[in-house]
Amino acid sequence: MTSVDAIVVGAGPNGLAAAVTLARAGLSVTVYERASTIGGGARTAELTLPGFHHDVGSAIHPMALASPFFRAFGLAERISLVVPELSYAQPLDGGRAALAWRDLDRTAEDLGRDGAAWAALFRPLVENVDAIAEISGSALLRLPRHPRALVQLGLRVLEQGTPDWNSRFREFAAPALLTGVIAHAIRPLPSLAAAAAGIVLATHAHARGWPVPIGGSQSITDALAADLIAHGGRIVTDTAVSSLRELPSSTVVLLDTSPRALLELAGDSVPDRYARSLRRFRYGNGIAKIDYALSGPVPWADARLAQTATLHLGGYRAETAGGELEVARGRLPRSPYVLVAQPSAFDASRAPAGKHVLWAYTHVPHGSTADRGAAITAQIERFAPGFRDLILASTSTTAIDVEFSNPNYIGGDISAGGVDLMQLLRRPTMFDPWHTPVQGVYLCSSSTSPGPGVHGMAGWNAARSALRHEFGITDDVDLAP
Ligand SMILES: Cc1cc2nc3c(=O)[nH]c(=O)nc-3n(C[C@H](O)[C@H](O)[C@H](O)COP(=O)(O)OP(=O)(O)OC[C@H]3O[C@@H](n4cnc5c(N)ncnc54)[C@H](O)[C@@H]3O)c2cc1C
Repeated sequence: MTSVDAIVVGAGPNGLAAAVTLARAGLSVTVYERASTIGGGARTAELTLPGFHHDVGSAIHPMALASPFFRAFGLAERISLVVPELSYAQPLDGGRAALAWRDLDRTAEDLGRDGAAWAALFRPLVENVDAIAEISGSALLRLPRHPRALVQLGLRVLEQGTPDWNSRFREFAAPALLTGVIAHAIRPLPSLAAAAAGIVLATHAHARGWPVPIGGSQSITDALAADLIAHGGRIVTDTAVSSLRELPSSTVVLLDTSPRALLELAGDSVPDRYARSLRRFRYGNGIAKIDYALSGPVPWADARLAQTATLHLGGYRAETAGGELEVARGRLPRSPYVLVAQPSAFDASRAPAGKHVLWAYTHVPHGSTADRGAAITAQIERFAPGFRDLILASTSTTAIDVEFSNPNYIGGDISAGGVDLMQLLRRPTMFDPWHTPVQGVYLCSSSTSPGPGVHGMAGWNAARSALRHEFGITDDVDLAP
């Protein structure tokens, strides 16, 4: 086998972001991917019927325009991103809904008596959105370059992550709307870590918006792969790496894998102390998903919901929090919190003319084998009577299926490691969390800072750490198209 400067194991968005950065620095790079297609959690495939293109993992990309890596890479110049005017919505019973428009003032106006409180919560963050993206895009314990933005964010996280979270609101719609975003983190609520992630996402919703890539999330990973290949890199699919010893020689190996996989791949070469800290890394609860092929658009009771790609279903704050608590206790909630994406409302290439794809998932206990398709369908039907009649085909995926198709998502945990306060600080270690004590080996997956999402930041950070430590390259690498 030939030797190269750098090997990346795993062609998810972080693995590819790392590979692109290394190739752009002039290194020879080979990526090995176990699946037959690249993209990991950012892939698009015909999961139901021919001509219906579903996102296997990520569907909505709040970080596509906001991530410092994607901005350096010029993602928006390489692919088409549609940004809905309505960033996300929370349908409520009685045919009503709470709406988060990209326009903060319009959102505040719609929220009535709580409008001013909503605007006061987000305005300082939206005005400092690049600082917020930088703070949330790295290891938390790096010296903050933006202390003011950090304090503004921290105060809001303290409010929305603790039992005081209703104090600023007088009605039910605004807290319901916010809970829909905060609940992404798969935590019992209120939770500081979930509030941190949710408030950052909600800030992006009012800044550059939550884009949908034309062609699906695959177009993002394909753009990364194209740049890698254009700069001499190589991608080898259908190759599961089971030990570092089986790889060709290289100066560095970057692993787009879980810490558990690092322990298996590196075996005895992992020092005891580091192995103990990797074993302490906790994997969170999981998700169960269903993809639908539909004969028409979803008949939302509130017709304005056709204007967004992203909906959070779960009713008012107390109902969503109750469901998330059930999951944390190892049970399946009767009224589950459901995330819904309707990309074909903005991207006609995703389904045959007049038809639609719909993506929906809900939270389940770690390792659950429960099929939640019927529960998700019932929750959509609650806010869109007649939905069931549109279903042409569907494919339901359990938490264990999710792990089977991608070993990074242990127990169906799509965050590749629970998002709690400790694991925001120590992901999986505190300082330079991408650099491992195994000679030349780096972790670059979403199990490292800054955590889950399609942003490429973990890969970019890991590659920059490797360039600095192993090749003495400290200058920023030009990634522009
Ligand atoms: C159902 C679902 C919905 C999601 N929704 C969103 C969303 O809407 N927006 C968003 O921003 N994020 C979303 N995410 C999360 C996002 O997809 C992930 O955080 C992101 O993909 C993580 O990127 P990564 O490169 O770290 O890992 P992954 O994307 O998981 O990629 C890891 C890759 O490594 C490969 N691999 C692992 N082990 C080996 C091995 N031993 N040998 C070879 N290859 C290996 C895997 O096959 C995989 O291709 C979602 C994820 C899922 C699953």
